[in-house]
Amino acid sequence: MKKIAIILALVALIAAYFFFDLGEVLTIEGIKAQVDSAKTFYADNPVLVIAIFFLIYVAVTAASLPGAAIMTIAAGALFGVVTGTIIVSFASTIGATLAFLASRYVLRDTIEARFGDRLKAINSGLERDGAFYLFTLRMIPAIPFFVINLVMGLTRIKTWTFAWVSQIGMFLGTIAFVNAGTQLAQIEDTSGLLSPVLIGSFVFLAIVPWIAKGIIGWLQRRKVYAGFTRPKSYDRNMIVIGAGSAGLVSSLIASTVKAKVTLVEANKMGGDCLNTGCVPSKALIKSAKVAAQIRHADKYGLRASEPEVPFKETIKRVLGAVAAIEPHDSVERYTGLGVDVIEGYAKIVDPWTVEVARNDGGTDRLTARSIVIAAGAEPFVPPIPGLAESNYLTSDTMWDAFAEMDQAPARVAVLGGGPIGCELSQALARLGSQVTQIEMADRVLNREDEDVSALAKTAIEESGVRVLLDHRAVRVSDGLVVTEHNGQEVTVPFDVLLVAVGRAARLKGYGLEDLGIDTEKTVVTDEFLATKFPNIYACGDVAGPYQFTHTASHQAWFASVNALFGQFKRFKADYSVIPAVTFLDPEVARVGLNETEAKEQGIEYEVTQYHLDDLDRAIAESETAGFVKVLTPPGGKDKILGATIVGAHAGELLAEYVLAMKHKLGLNKILGTIHSYPTMAEANKFAAGEWKKAHKPEKVLDLLEKYHAWRRR
Ligand SMILES: Cc1cc2nc3c(=O)[nH]c(=O)nc-3n(C[C@H](O)[C@H](O)[C@H](O)COP(=O)(O)OP(=O)(O)OC[C@H]3O[C@@H](n4cnc5c(N)ncnc54)[C@H](O)[C@@H]3O)c2cc1C
Repeated sequence: MKKIAIILALVALIAAYFFFDLGEVLTIEGIKAQVDSAKTFYADNPVLVIAIFFLIYVAVTAASLPGAAIMTIAAGALFGVVTGTIIVSFASTIGATLAFLASRYVLRDTIEARFGDRLKAINSGLERDGAFYLFTLRMIPAIPFFVINLVMGLTRIKTWTFAWVSQIGMFLGTIAFVNAGTQLAQIEDTSGLLSPVLIGSFVFLAIVPWIAKGIIGWLQRRKVYAGFTRPKSYDRNMIVIGAGSAGLVSSLIASTVKAKVTLVEANKMGGDCLNTGCVPSKALIKSAKVAAQIRHADKYGLRASEPEVPFKETIKRVLGAVAAIEPHDSVERYTGLGVDVIEGYAKIVDPWTVEVARNDGGTDRLTARSIVIAAGAEPFVPPIPGLAESNYLTSDTMWDAFAEMDQAPARVAVLGGGPIGCELSQALARLGSQVTQIEMADRVLNREDEDVSALAKTAIEESGVRVLLDHRAVRVSDGLVVTEHNGQEVTVPFDVLLVAVGRAARLKGYGLEDLGIDTEKTVVTDEFLATKFPNIYACGDVAGPYQFTHTASHQAWFASVNALFGQFKRFKADYSVIPAVTFLDPEVARVGLNETEAKEQGIEYEVTQYHLDDLDRAIAESETAGFVKVLTPPGGKDKILGATIVGAHAGELLAEYVLAMKHKLGLNKILGTIHSYPTMAEANKFAAGEWKKAHKPEKVLDLLEKYHAWRRR
């Protein structure tokens, strides 16, 4: 109802505009012709003239009709600078606010549904420094005010904020135009307003907010660095703490652009991923998969048998894979690439100085203009009574422990149903351990959709794991994990207890506390990955929010480039398209939104799903478990919001969707791309085909049917 009333009011205003031929009147010539008689009338009836002028001004701006600039000039001619400015200042703010509200009320929902994600960026920018943003727009005369009113109506800026910022932001421009109006006799047309002096003052008005921002930034920096003495010069351009994925990439970027960079690593080059994370776990998973294939060889028409698992040999192979990759991340390689590598423990002592307790016993004190913190994360060990005394293992410690074992541990209890817990449970079970996986939530992989969790659970159970959901570990004692389930105690005996309940950023012991660098679960950074000290950046697991090797190296680019070149331009870390894979068998891979997240974020979506049991290659390989699930906006808009793939090689298949999303390609493009036959990748194309089928142009097809019928006559 309200919407209709607003539309009717706007239509009435537009009709009145044309009825009274305001388009003709509101020109320089029109105003010039009327101004003398208007002045006489104003002298006799000042209040009435001001009221009429005010109302027309409000109406013209509220309906976003042309003429506001001319009316501002007319105000100068008619009322003089002071009265004219007061009248226009209030009338324009009221009119602009009405236009803003009309846009918000009538258009916002429609536009948000269509361009919600783009508006989200503007909205978040506005949320951060919205008033400033609007103020700047108001100061730039090149952007028509009516456009600003309408666009702002589509954002989430508060009406009151819009009104007061508009009033202040338009004030100086109003004075300039009203003042110009007092010279009406000399002005030939609106271009006469753009004299060099006026242009100069407008440009100045436009840059004032940026100057103000610069000054504020400078004051903030002064405050942050107060109490520290900046070195007169620096030994290095950049110091990087930690040589995991984030630190290696940061230092490599710095040396590539010829900066002098020192990389400090306390432990092993390559960090978690190479030494205790991705690499050994994926090598173990491969051995386990082969074991499962031997065990289930009948699936492939072969004789099934129980695989022999000489566990020491298995782990030797795993550590062999680590050793084979080690040279990629070695001190020698990085030194050769121009990075100065120091093996030792780094501590930040002031915003430009790092002290390194070298592994060989010496100490270095280094200075640099910028520091990049890439200290990673470590397994989180929950405060469960008895756990500390239980000789539990984590991903950090299990590889050395396993290397000593002749047999796979007989009974393994795995705490945690996240990606690491699931991957290790399945792998160890396949290698012969009796595994019980304990998860307190009601499903495994609980960031994924429910159907994905269900498939993952089935796959883990089929590998021989006993999966206990809704079981909370309450204590550990005498080789038993005691869990609570529906008010009952359930005990899980173990020979090896593996804790895999998440990873916590390393935040202590290397100077963050002393410098007052803010930390929550991770080091707190801005969107440029800078800490509260603009020259200290953080990336990788220590900065979060993602904990993947590829996000660590992705962030490293932003941290190092901003650290080295931030004085010219800084780049916001871009998290728009982040893929993630859990290397279960079948793999679980996702990019962008899944249904769970779309619902949480109130984003409307449509699901297209293609099941692998229909795919020729999957059938030929007996790998039919899984699906490709794609989320798109409702109504057939060709935009990929997210894709989840469960199945053999899902991690590889996902790359096509990652590329498509990154480069804003839709499903039509995937459908129009030749995929080799028979490949698993065809599943991506068939999913796109399913989407297309669901949105086929029924009306056109009806017409075609008639056309062909006619052709048969
Ligand atoms: C079992 C497991 C499996 C995983 N699988 C995958 C996977 O398949 N795919 C994936 O993308 N990710 C995976 N991950 C996550 C991945 O390993 C991490 O996201 C990645 O290693 C993060 O890199 P980073 O550089 O931030 O930190 P890290 O690799 O942890 O490196 C940080 C380094 O900093 C050093 N350091 C810390 N403090 C100091 C100091 N004061 N002085 C000097 N050095 C210091 C540490 O010794 C460490 O070497 C897995 C993790 C685990 C545990």
